[in-house]
Amino acid sequence: MPVKINENYLLLKSSYIFAQINQKVNDFQEKNPDAEIIRMGIGDVTRPLPKAVIEEFHKAVDEMGSSKTFMGYGPEQGYSFLIKDIIKNDFIPRGIQISEDEVFISDGAKCDTGNIQEIFGLENLVAVTDPVYPVYVETNVMAGRTGSMGEDGRYEKLAYLPCTAENDFVPQLPEEPVDLIYLCFPNNPTGTTLNKDQLAKWVNYARENKSIILFDAAYESYIREDDIPHSIYEIEGAKEVAIEFHSFSKNAGFTGTRCAYTVVPKELIAYDSEGNPQPINPLWNRRQTTKFNGVSYPIQKAAAAVYTPEGQKEIGESIDYYMQNAGIIRESLIEMGLKVYGGVNSPYIWIKTPEGISSWGFFDLLLKEANVVGTPGVGFGPSGEGYFRITAFNTLKNTKEAMERISKLSI
Ligand code: PLP
Repeated sequence: MPVKINENYLLLKSSYIFAQINQKVNDFQEKNPDAEIIRMGIGDVTRPLPKAVIEEFHKAVDEMGSSKTFMGYGPEQGYSFLIKDIIKNDFIPRGIQISEDEVFISDGAKCDTGNIQEIFGLENLVAVTDPVYPVYVETNVMAGRTGSMGEDGRYEKLAYLPCTAENDFVPQLPEEPVDLIYLCFPNNPTGTTLNKDQLAKWVNYARENKSIILFDAAYESYIREDDIPHSIYEIEGAKEVAIEFHSFSKNAGFTGTRCAYTVVPKELIAYDSEGNPQPINPLWNRRQTTKFNGVSYPIQKAAAAVYTPEGQKEIGESIDYYMQNAGIIRESLIEMGLKVYGGVNSPYIWIKTPEGISSWGFFDLLLKEANVVGTPGVGFGPSGEGYFRITAFNTLKNTKEAMERISKLSI
Protein backbone atom coordinates (compact mmCIF):
# COMPACT_ATOMS: atom_id res chain seq x y z
CA MET A 1 0.00 0.00 0.00
CA PRO A 2 1.32 3.49 -0.76
CA VAL A 3 2.01 5.86 2.13
CA LYS A 4 -1.03 7.85 3.21
CA ILE A 5 -0.96 11.44 4.34
CA ASN A 6 -2.73 12.92 7.32
CA GLU A 7 -5.76 14.11 5.38
CA ASN A 8 -6.66 16.64 8.01
CA TYR A 9 -3.97 18.81 6.45
CA LEU A 10 -6.10 18.98 3.30
CA LEU A 11 -8.83 20.65 5.34
CA LEU A 12 -6.64 23.68 6.01
CA LYS A 13 -7.46 26.82 4.08
CA SER A 14 -5.13 26.74 1.11
CA SER A 15 -3.39 30.04 1.51
CA TYR A 16 -2.00 31.63 4.63
CA ILE A 17 -3.19 35.24 4.82
CA PHE A 18 0.31 36.70 5.07
CA ALA A 19 1.36 34.83 1.93
CA GLN A 20 -1.62 36.40 0.11
CA ILE A 21 -0.66 39.83 1.40
CA ASN A 22 2.98 39.39 0.32
CA GLN A 23 1.87 38.37 -3.13
CA LYS A 24 -0.27 41.48 -3.52
CA VAL A 25 2.43 43.77 -2.12
CA ASN A 26 5.12 42.26 -4.38
CA ASP A 27 2.90 42.62 -7.44
CA PHE A 28 2.22 46.24 -6.54
CA GLN A 29 5.90 47.00 -5.92
CA GLU A 30 6.86 45.46 -9.26
CA LYS A 31 4.41 47.70 -11.08
CA ASN A 32 5.31 50.73 -8.94
CA PRO A 33 9.05 50.43 -8.26
CA ASP A 34 9.28 53.95 -6.79
CA ALA A 35 6.51 53.49 -4.23
CA GLU A 36 7.88 53.57 -0.67
CA ILE A 37 5.71 50.98 0.98
CA ILE A 38 5.24 51.13 4.76
CA ARG A 39 4.43 47.75 6.28
CA MET A 40 2.10 47.74 9.25
CA GLY A 41 0.74 44.26 8.68
CA ILE A 42 2.75 41.52 10.32
CA GLY A 43 2.99 41.54 14.11
CA ASP A 44 6.78 41.44 14.33
CA VAL A 45 8.71 43.81 16.56
CA THR A 46 11.38 46.13 15.14
CA ARG A 47 13.39 47.35 18.16
CA PRO A 48 16.62 45.44 18.91
CA LEU A 49 17.15 43.28 21.98
CA PRO A 50 17.89 45.26 25.15
CA LYS A 51 21.61 45.76 26.00
CA ALA A 52 21.20 43.91 29.30
CA VAL A 53 19.90 40.91 27.35
CA ILE A 54 22.68 41.01 24.78
CA GLU A 55 25.37 41.15 27.49
CA GLU A 56 24.05 38.05 29.26
CA PHE A 57 23.56 36.33 25.92
CA HIS A 58 27.25 36.95 25.04
CA LYS A 59 28.47 35.82 28.45
CA ALA A 60 26.48 32.59 28.20
CA VAL A 61 27.83 31.90 24.71
CA ASP A 62 31.37 32.28 26.10
CA GLU A 63 30.52 29.84 28.89
CA MET A 64 29.65 27.26 26.24
CA GLY A 65 33.23 27.53 24.90
CA SER A 66 34.99 26.49 28.09
CA SER A 67 35.07 22.96 29.49
CA LYS A 68 34.48 24.30 33.03
CA THR A 69 31.27 26.07 32.18
CA PHE A 70 30.02 24.18 29.13
CA MET A 71 26.36 23.13 29.29
CA GLY A 72 24.99 20.11 27.43
CA TYR A 73 21.39 18.95 27.35
CA GLY A 74 19.42 21.02 29.81
CA PRO A 75 16.17 20.22 31.57
CA GLU A 76 13.39 20.10 28.95
CA GLN A 77 11.20 22.15 31.29
CA GLY A 78 13.74 24.98 31.45
CA TYR A 79 16.47 26.05 33.87
CA SER A 80 15.49 26.79 37.41
CA PHE A 81 17.22 30.21 37.33
CA LEU A 82 14.76 31.46 34.67
CA ILE A 83 11.71 29.78 36.17
CA LYS A 84 12.49 31.38 39.57
CA ASP A 85 12.79 34.82 37.93
CA ILE A 86 9.48 34.34 36.12
CA ILE A 87 7.61 33.41 39.30
CA LYS A 88 9.25 36.19 41.31
CA ASN A 89 8.52 38.91 38.74
CA ASP A 90 5.42 37.92 36.79
CA PHE A 91 3.31 36.24 39.47
CA ILE A 92 4.28 36.96 43.10
CA PRO A 93 3.75 40.76 42.76
CA ARG A 94 0.20 39.99 41.56
CA GLY A 95 -0.48 37.75 44.54
CA ILE A 96 -0.31 34.54 42.48
CA GLN A 97 1.38 31.46 43.90
CA ILE A 98 3.00 29.29 41.22
CA SER A 99 5.45 26.48 41.93
CA GLU A 100 8.52 25.80 39.82
CA ASP A 101 7.18 22.57 38.35
CA GLU A 102 4.15 24.41 37.01
CA VAL A 103 6.26 26.55 34.64
CA PHE A 104 7.55 25.15 31.33
CA ILE A 105 10.05 27.21 29.32
CA SER A 106 9.70 26.84 25.56
CA ASP A 107 10.72 28.32 22.24
CA GLY A 108 7.42 30.05 21.61
CA ALA A 109 3.83 30.71 22.54
CA LYS A 110 3.00 29.75 18.97
CA CYS A 111 4.41 26.24 19.52
CA ASP A 112 2.82 25.88 22.95
CA THR A 113 -0.64 27.17 21.99
CA GLY A 114 -0.38 24.92 18.93
CA ASN A 115 0.89 21.80 20.71
CA ILE A 116 -1.23 21.92 23.86
CA GLN A 117 -4.27 20.45 22.12
CA GLU A 118 -2.55 17.09 21.64
CA ILE A 119 -2.82 16.17 25.31
CA PHE A 120 -6.62 16.46 25.05
CA GLY A 121 -9.04 13.98 23.46
CA LEU A 122 -10.21 14.44 19.89
CA GLU A 123 -13.84 14.38 20.99
CA ASN A 124 -13.56 17.69 22.88
CA LEU A 125 -15.58 20.59 21.53
CA VAL A 126 -13.22 23.52 21.00
CA ALA A 127 -14.32 27.16 21.22
CA VAL A 128 -12.41 30.01 19.65
CA THR A 129 -13.11 33.71 19.56
CA ASP A 130 -13.81 35.04 16.07
CA PRO A 131 -11.65 36.78 14.78
CA VAL A 132 -8.78 34.74 16.19
CA TYR A 133 -5.01 34.09 16.08
CA PRO A 134 -5.10 31.37 13.38
CA VAL A 135 -2.75 28.94 15.18
CA TYR A 136 -5.47 27.81 17.61
CA VAL A 137 -7.81 26.88 14.79
CA GLU A 138 -5.32 25.36 12.39
CA THR A 139 -3.62 23.08 14.92
CA ASN A 140 -7.03 21.67 15.80
CA VAL A 141 -7.74 21.19 12.10
CA MET A 142 -4.48 19.24 11.73
CA ALA A 143 -5.42 17.08 14.71
CA GLY A 144 -8.80 16.22 13.20
CA ARG A 145 -11.03 17.99 15.71
CA THR A 146 -12.81 20.44 13.41
CA GLY A 147 -14.27 18.75 10.33
CA SER A 148 -14.17 20.77 7.14
CA MET A 149 -14.74 24.44 6.48
CA GLY A 150 -18.21 25.48 5.34
CA GLU A 151 -19.22 28.18 2.87
CA ASP A 152 -19.43 30.62 5.76
CA GLY A 153 -15.69 30.25 6.47
CA ARG A 154 -16.31 28.29 9.67
CA TYR A 155 -15.16 24.77 10.48
CA GLU A 156 -18.21 22.65 11.11
CA LYS A 157 -17.18 21.24 14.49
CA LEU A 158 -15.65 24.33 16.09
CA ALA A 159 -17.63 26.66 18.34
CA TYR A 160 -17.12 30.28 17.26
CA LEU A 161 -17.47 33.13 19.73
CA PRO A 162 -17.94 36.31 17.67
CA CYS A 163 -16.15 39.39 19.00
CA THR A 164 -17.31 42.47 17.11
CA ALA A 165 -18.22 46.08 17.81
CA GLU A 166 -21.80 44.86 18.49
CA ASN A 167 -20.73 43.04 21.65
CA ASP A 168 -17.86 45.39 22.44
CA PHE A 169 -15.43 42.58 21.54
CA VAL A 170 -16.45 40.64 24.65
CA PRO A 171 -17.11 36.98 23.82
CA GLN A 172 -20.48 35.80 25.11
CA LEU A 173 -20.68 32.54 27.05
CA PRO A 174 -21.60 29.73 24.63
CA GLU A 175 -25.13 28.34 24.53
CA GLU A 176 -23.98 24.75 24.05
CA PRO A 177 -21.34 23.51 26.51
CA VAL A 178 -17.77 23.65 25.21
CA ASP A 179 -14.71 21.82 26.52
CA LEU A 180 -11.58 23.71 25.50
CA ILE A 181 -11.75 27.49 25.21
CA TYR A 182 -8.96 29.58 23.66
CA LEU A 183 -8.92 33.13 24.99
CA CYS A 184 -6.29 35.74 24.13
CA PHE A 185 -6.32 39.09 25.95
CA PRO A 186 -5.06 41.66 25.12
CA ASN A 187 -6.35 40.26 21.88
CA ASN A 188 -4.66 39.65 18.59
CA PRO A 189 -6.06 40.86 16.19
CA THR A 190 -8.62 43.24 17.77
CA GLY A 191 -6.32 44.82 20.38
CA THR A 192 -9.19 44.74 22.88
CA THR A 193 -9.13 43.45 26.46
CA LEU A 194 -11.38 41.91 29.11
CA ASN A 195 -11.61 43.45 32.54
CA LYS A 196 -11.53 41.31 35.68
CA ASP A 197 -15.30 40.85 35.91
CA GLN A 198 -15.57 39.86 32.26
CA LEU A 199 -12.76 37.32 32.58
CA ALA A 200 -14.19 36.03 35.87
CA LYS A 201 -17.39 35.06 34.00
CA TRP A 202 -15.31 32.74 31.82
CA VAL A 203 -13.45 31.27 34.77
CA ASN A 204 -16.78 30.57 36.50
CA TYR A 205 -18.17 29.08 33.31
CA ALA A 206 -15.18 26.74 33.04
CA ARG A 207 -15.53 25.70 36.69
CA GLU A 208 -19.24 24.98 36.29
CA ASN A 209 -18.86 23.10 33.00
CA LYS A 210 -15.58 21.29 33.73
CA SER A 211 -14.03 23.10 30.76
CA ILE A 212 -10.44 24.26 30.40
CA ILE A 213 -9.40 27.76 29.30
CA LEU A 214 -6.24 28.11 27.22
CA PHE A 215 -5.31 31.70 28.03
CA ASP A 216 -2.82 33.42 25.75
CA ALA A 217 -1.18 36.35 27.55
CA ALA A 218 1.42 37.10 24.85
CA TYR A 219 0.55 40.83 24.91
CA GLU A 220 0.22 41.21 28.67
CA SER A 221 3.06 43.76 28.91
CA TYR A 222 1.11 46.27 26.78
CA ILE A 223 -1.64 46.63 29.39
CA ARG A 224 -1.87 50.21 30.61
CA GLU A 225 -5.23 50.33 32.39
CA ASP A 226 -5.65 49.21 36.00
CA ASP A 227 -8.65 46.89 35.86
CA ILE A 228 -7.24 44.65 33.11
CA PRO A 229 -5.83 41.34 34.39
CA HIS A 230 -2.24 40.57 33.34
CA SER A 231 -2.73 36.92 34.19
CA ILE A 232 -5.88 34.80 34.30
CA TYR A 233 -4.67 33.56 37.68
CA GLU A 234 -5.57 36.96 39.12
CA ILE A 235 -9.12 35.59 38.97
CA GLU A 236 -10.08 33.41 41.92
CA GLY A 237 -10.26 29.72 41.07
CA ALA A 238 -8.53 30.08 37.69
CA LYS A 239 -5.71 27.72 38.62
CA GLU A 240 -8.26 24.90 38.58
CA VAL A 241 -9.37 25.61 35.03
CA ALA A 242 -6.71 27.48 33.04
CA ILE A 243 -3.39 27.03 31.28
CA GLU A 244 -1.58 30.30 30.56
CA PHE A 245 0.87 31.11 27.76
CA HIS A 246 3.46 33.89 27.91
CA SER A 247 6.13 34.96 25.47
CA PHE A 248 9.29 37.07 25.48
CA SER A 249 8.61 37.92 21.82
CA LYS A 250 6.48 41.01 22.15
CA ASN A 251 7.70 42.40 25.48
CA ALA A 252 11.44 41.93 24.98
CA GLY A 253 11.95 41.54 21.24
CA PHE A 254 12.61 37.77 21.22
CA THR A 255 10.73 37.08 17.97
CA GLY A 256 13.97 36.04 16.29
CA THR A 257 15.65 34.72 19.45
CA ARG A 258 12.81 32.49 20.68
CA CYS A 259 11.79 32.11 24.30
CA ALA A 260 8.41 31.75 25.98
CA TYR A 261 6.79 29.91 28.86
CA THR A 262 3.59 28.12 29.74
CA VAL A 263 2.01 27.66 33.15
CA VAL A 264 0.20 24.37 33.74
CA PRO A 265 -1.15 24.38 37.32
CA LYS A 266 -1.14 21.15 39.29
CA GLU A 267 -4.78 21.67 40.33
CA LEU A 268 -5.88 21.47 36.69
CA ILE A 269 -7.65 18.23 35.81
CA ALA A 270 -9.44 16.65 32.88
CA TYR A 271 -11.08 13.22 32.70
CA ASP A 272 -10.31 9.84 31.15
CA SER A 273 -12.95 7.87 29.25
CA GLU A 274 -14.07 6.22 32.49
CA GLY A 275 -14.70 9.56 34.11
CA ASN A 276 -11.68 9.44 36.40
CA PRO A 277 -9.97 12.78 37.03
CA GLN A 278 -6.48 13.03 35.54
CA PRO A 279 -4.04 15.83 36.29
CA ILE A 280 -2.91 17.74 33.22
CA ASN A 281 0.48 18.92 34.47
CA PRO A 282 2.14 15.46 34.24
CA LEU A 283 0.76 15.01 30.71
CA TRP A 284 2.30 18.26 29.50
CA ASN A 285 5.53 17.38 31.30
CA ARG A 286 5.53 14.00 29.54
CA ARG A 287 4.81 15.62 26.19
CA GLN A 288 7.59 18.16 26.55
CA THR A 289 10.21 15.73 27.87
CA THR A 290 9.49 13.36 24.99
CA LYS A 291 9.16 15.75 22.09
CA PHE A 292 11.04 18.89 23.10
CA ASN A 293 14.74 19.41 23.85
CA GLY A 294 14.37 22.57 25.85
CA VAL A 295 15.51 26.11 25.01
CA SER A 296 19.26 26.64 24.66
CA TYR A 297 21.20 27.79 27.71
CA PRO A 298 22.38 31.13 26.24
CA ILE A 299 18.82 32.05 25.30
CA GLN A 300 17.47 31.24 28.73
CA LYS A 301 20.27 33.37 30.23
CA ALA A 302 19.32 36.16 27.83
CA ALA A 303 15.66 35.83 28.87
CA ALA A 304 16.57 35.98 32.56
CA ALA A 305 18.26 39.35 31.89
CA VAL A 306 14.83 40.73 30.95
CA TYR A 307 14.03 40.64 34.68
CA THR A 308 17.10 42.63 35.82
CA PRO A 309 16.47 46.30 36.66
CA GLU A 310 18.32 47.38 33.47
CA GLY A 311 16.39 44.83 31.40
CA GLN A 312 13.07 46.00 32.83
CA LYS A 313 13.95 49.63 32.13
CA GLU A 314 14.93 48.88 28.54
CA ILE A 315 11.93 46.74 27.70
CA GLY A 316 9.70 49.39 29.28
CA GLU A 317 11.17 51.96 26.91
CA SER A 318 10.52 49.77 23.86
CA ILE A 319 6.94 49.09 24.90
CA ASP A 320 6.41 52.83 25.51
CA TYR A 321 7.81 53.49 22.05
CA TYR A 322 5.35 51.08 20.39
CA MET A 323 2.49 52.42 22.49
CA GLN A 324 3.34 55.97 21.42
CA ASN A 325 2.94 54.72 17.85
CA ALA A 326 -0.35 53.09 18.80
CA GLY A 327 -1.59 56.41 20.21
CA ILE A 328 -0.59 58.26 17.03
CA ILE A 329 -2.39 55.70 14.86
CA ARG A 330 -5.52 55.81 16.99
CA GLU A 331 -5.70 59.59 17.08
CA SER A 332 -5.08 60.06 13.36
CA LEU A 333 -7.70 57.53 12.36
CA ILE A 334 -10.29 58.79 14.84
CA GLU A 335 -9.69 62.32 13.54
CA MET A 336 -10.50 61.03 10.06
CA GLY A 337 -13.84 59.84 11.38
CA LEU A 338 -13.01 56.13 11.35
CA LYS A 339 -14.22 53.79 14.11
CA VAL A 340 -11.14 52.48 15.83
CA TYR A 341 -10.70 49.85 18.57
CA GLY A 342 -7.70 48.53 20.51
CA GLY A 343 -4.36 50.30 20.69
CA VAL A 344 -4.87 51.33 24.34
CA ASN A 345 -3.62 48.17 26.07
CA SER A 346 -2.15 46.54 22.99
CA PRO A 347 0.02 47.20 19.94
CA TYR A 348 -2.86 46.38 17.57
CA ILE A 349 -5.37 48.85 16.19
CA TRP A 350 -8.55 47.37 14.77
CA ILE A 351 -10.37 49.59 12.32
CA LYS A 352 -13.97 49.29 11.17
CA THR A 353 -13.75 49.69 7.42
CA PRO A 354 -15.89 52.49 5.97
CA GLU A 355 -19.44 51.62 4.89
CA GLY A 356 -19.48 49.46 1.78
CA ILE A 357 -15.74 48.60 1.83
CA SER A 358 -14.70 45.04 2.63
CA SER A 359 -11.54 44.06 4.53
CA TRP A 360 -9.70 43.28 1.29
CA GLY A 361 -11.20 46.37 -0.38
CA PHE A 362 -9.69 48.51 2.38
CA PHE A 363 -6.38 46.66 2.02
CA ASP A 364 -6.28 47.46 -1.72
CA LEU A 365 -7.24 51.08 -1.10
CA LEU A 366 -4.48 51.67 1.47
CA LEU A 367 -1.89 49.84 -0.60
CA LYS A 368 -2.67 51.70 -3.83
CA GLU A 369 -3.50 55.16 -2.50
CA ALA A 370 -1.22 55.43 0.54
CA ASN A 371 1.31 52.64 -0.06
CA VAL A 372 0.58 51.36 3.45
CA VAL A 373 0.16 47.66 4.21
CA GLY A 374 -2.13 46.36 6.93
CA THR A 375 -3.98 43.09 7.44
CA PRO A 376 -7.55 42.44 6.27
CA GLY A 377 -9.62 41.45 9.30
CA VAL A 378 -11.37 38.64 7.46
CA GLY A 379 -8.05 36.76 7.42
CA PHE A 380 -8.56 36.14 11.15
CA GLY A 381 -12.03 34.65 10.81
CA PRO A 382 -15.44 35.42 9.31
CA SER A 383 -16.35 37.95 12.04
CA GLY A 384 -13.26 39.93 11.01
CA GLU A 385 -14.92 40.88 7.73
CA GLY A 386 -15.41 44.64 7.62
CA TYR A 387 -12.39 45.22 9.86
CA PHE A 388 -8.70 45.90 9.27
CA ARG A 389 -5.64 45.52 11.53
CA ILE A 390 -2.74 47.94 11.76
CA THR A 391 0.22 47.28 14.07
CA ALA A 392 2.22 49.76 16.11
CA PHE A 393 5.51 47.89 15.63
CA ASN A 394 6.97 50.08 12.89
CA THR A 395 9.31 53.03 13.57
CA LEU A 396 7.90 56.30 14.87
CA LYS A 397 8.97 58.01 11.65
CA ASN A 398 7.21 55.45 9.43
CA THR A 399 4.14 55.45 11.66
CA LYS A 400 3.81 59.24 11.36
CA GLU A 401 4.43 59.12 7.63
CA ALA A 402 1.84 56.35 7.15
CA MET A 403 -0.77 58.30 9.11
CA GLU A 404 -0.06 61.45 7.12
CA ARG A 405 -0.60 59.55 3.89
CA ILE A 406 -3.80 57.88 5.10
CA SER A 407 -5.17 61.18 6.44
CA LYS A 408 -4.99 62.64 2.92
CA LEU A 409 -7.32 59.97 1.51
CA SER A 410 -10.94 60.81 1.12
CA ILE A 411 -12.52 57.90 2.95
N1 PLP B 1 0.06 34.30 20.59
C1 PLP B 1 -0.42 35.34 19.90
C2 PLP B 1 -1.80 35.79 20.17
C3 PLP B 1 0.35 35.97 18.94
O1 PLP B 1 -0.15 37.01 18.26
C4 PLP B 1 1.66 35.53 18.69
C5 PLP B 1 2.52 36.14 17.68
O2 PLP B 1 2.17 36.95 16.88
C6 PLP B 1 2.11 34.45 19.41
C7 PLP B 1 1.30 33.85 20.35
C8 PLP B 1 3.46 33.88 19.11
O3 PLP B 1 4.36 34.09 20.12
P1 PLP B 1 5.81 33.47 20.00
O4 PLP B 1 6.64 34.41 19.21
O5 PLP B 1 6.23 33.33 21.42
O6 PLP B 1 5.70 32.13 19.34
